[in-house]
Amino acid sequence: MAEELCPSCKKGKLVSVKKEENVETKEFSCGHRTFTVRIEERILVSDSVHAIVIPSPIRLLQEAINQKDWFKGLIMSITYFEHFGINKLKEHFRSKGINIDPDKIDRLSLEEIIMVLYSCEIVDQPTYTKMIEVKKKRDKLVHQKKEAPIFEIEEGEAENLIKKAIECLKNLGAT
Ligand SMILES: [Zn+2]
Repeated sequence: MAEELCPSCKKGKLVSVKKEENVETKEFSCGHRTFTVRIEERILVSDSVHAIVIPSPIRLLQEAINQKDWFKGLIMSITYFEHFGINKLKEHFRSKGINIDPDKIDRLSLEEIIMVLYSCEIVDQPTYTKMIEVKKKRDKLVHQKKEAPIFEIEEGEAENLIKKAIECLKNLGAT
């Protein structure tokens, strides 16, 4: 099997994989990390039917706050912004009879998603500002190598940002 290399620098080798409830963290020898947040879960509801459930993002973010797991909370917030933002956009275009290829919407970057949500007046200005704020902080943390002075985020700030993310997600229809 081919060795898994760091997607950021293509040099580091995979050293560890940690799986939690819905977040998988991979560490590479270069110090970079990657995170995969699973949003949907397939469950068997009877012998033949599968249902897709989305574990409550609000609950999972609240748990991250309780566990003071700021990093995970911010990573999850961003994944949920993407997921619920894209759903909102699709719903919006459909209800307006605007025909846009859903695949194109799926390929939007988070920054684009946030801008379209705001420009189509799906979210208000305070929500827009909060989403950008959370995204900026997450980008900064993710691009920080592990050896960097431990986790450059202050506890109060982190908690505040995740609470803002929760408010944004409620506006995007998450429960
Ligand atoms: Zn790397």
